[in-house]
Amino acid sequence: MRLVVDLNRCQGYAQCAFLAPDVFAMHGDEALLYNPQADAEQSEPLARAVAACPVQAILVEGLDETAGVPTAPGEEASRGR
Ligand code: SF4
Repeated sequence: MRLVVDLNRCQGYAQCAFLAPDVFAMHGDEALLYNPQADAEQSEPLARAVAACPVQAILVEGLDETAGVPTAPGEEASRGR
């Protein structure tokens, strides 16, 4: 999956580095490093990081953003999976 972080938006809150440490890392107090070509197996932690970013700075191509989000019983069928 390709991902981009809008560094003009990013405020260095580090939520993403906490939730997807194999993709994001903080360098010092504010600089964010990330792997722009994350493996598919990172889709769950990545979805959590996208959802948790307070400024919606993380954009991921081809990510099912519902991955890793708990669903109510019976909800799966309504999503057409
Ligand atoms: S969670 Fe968002 S604002 Fe915080 S470091 Fe990650 S991309 Fe930046």
